[in-house]
Amino acid sequence: MSRFHSIAVAKVDHQTRDTIVVSFDVPADLRDTFHFVQGQHLTLRTDIDGHDVRRSYSICSAVQDRDLRIAIKRSPGGVFSNWANDHMKRGMSIAVMPPMGHFNTPLQAEQSRHYLGFAAGSGITPLLSIIKTTLLAEPMSRFTLLYGNRATSSVIFREELADLKDTYLERFKLVYVMSREQQDIELFNGRITAEKCEALFQHWINLDDVDLAFICGPEQMMHAVAATLEKHGMPKEKIKIELFAASIPKHEHHPRPASVLGTGLCEVTVIMDGRSASFAMEKDKESVLDAGLRQGLDLRYACKGGVCATCRCKVVEGEVEMDANHALEDYEIARGFVLSCQSFPVTEKLVVDFDQDT
Ligand SMILES: Cc1cc2nc3c(=O)[nH]c(=O)nc-3n(C[C@H](O)[C@H](O)[C@H](O)COP(=O)(O)OP(=O)(O)OC[C@H]3O[C@@H](n4cnc5c(N)ncnc54)[C@H](O)[C@@H]3O)c2cc1C
Repeated sequence: MSRFHSIAVAKVDHQTRDTIVVSFDVPADLRDTFHFVQGQHLTLRTDIDGHDVRRSYSICSAVQDRDLRIAIKRSPGGVFSNWANDHMKRGMSIAVMPPMGHFNTPLQAEQSRHYLGFAAGSGITPLLSIIKTTLLAEPMSRFTLLYGNRATSSVIFREELADLKDTYLERFKLVYVMSREQQDIELFNGRITAEKCEALFQHWINLDDVDLAFICGPEQMMHAVAATLEKHGMPKEKIKIELFAASIPKHEHHPRPASVLGTGLCEVTVIMDGRSASFAMEKDKESVLDAGLRQGLDLRYACKGGVCATCRCKVVEGEVEMDANHALEDYEIARGFVLSCQSFPVTEKLVVDFDQDT
């Protein structure tokens, strides 16, 4: 689960001027390990100028495709995305961690639901996987997608989406919202903001008819959409959000007063891949993840910013305090899941399990 595997790149397709779509050739003995659920992501790892760089990329293929594909959009000044766009080629191999993530909902063939998706820019990636998988798995369900872009030339997966529209005329509705290209319907011009959502919910989308919403894009857009959906009565647990780390500022841990955490050492036991290891750490100096890595443990992580949830684990004994959490939902926290990159022990003893998923 937590290991990186060297996987060959089967194809690199230049989707737009600044986005590549990478397909992987998963060997037969790793097919089960790389089986995924729609909306999940992969973590890639490589050495760039002597630095160990890890980044997460959402899978864009449908579960039924039997294909493993991701899309990587250049971030201005970004280390990995530019390296990937410049250097990833067919035939090369790269370290890939098996699929992870909970940006999905269970599907059932007999269900008849209406799903609503909001995507902007590279946020389309997990949505494409979710839409394709859902339309195939639930023949009575419908999907409406609002997809924000600057202009037609920057639309990732334009052709695939057009094909989907043709295939599912009655069940897939696609609305482009363009910020730098004039469209006939004024409502579809501009950005996806709270005001735009208000107008859409008034004139175009009947929220009473929507069962679940998926949102993926820049942080500001996601919060605006989620807040407007909630304002219109959609319960929080029906709004699924996936944040891409590129859009959040680096977080710095501020040590708490000793009265909050207590002072001194915590004896930490980490369970991963069926093995356990113990070490002592100072309570408020570094995160459980950093302390474990410093001890030489090969713990899984990627963004270290509380976004990607690669370092998610379950507290089975003791207690931690988390700094930032942009990834875990309330029900996961209630079950004891934490992000180890953001977790600081509160108790003298702490046991965390990286093997538990539910
Ligand atoms: C669960 C998850 C799924 C994701 N899925 C996708 C996906 O499907 N597709 C996708 O494209 N991305 C995806 N991301 C985002 C991706 O993981 C990376 O964060 C993104 O590609 C940027 O990485 P980078 O190394 O290029 O940028 P970084 O080097 O990490 O930099 C991030 C940002 O910091 C700023 N920055 C960095 N260096 C400089 C500099 N020198 N000057 C000015 N600004 C600078 C830039 O704004 C840059 O965009 C996902 C993230 C998560 C957490």
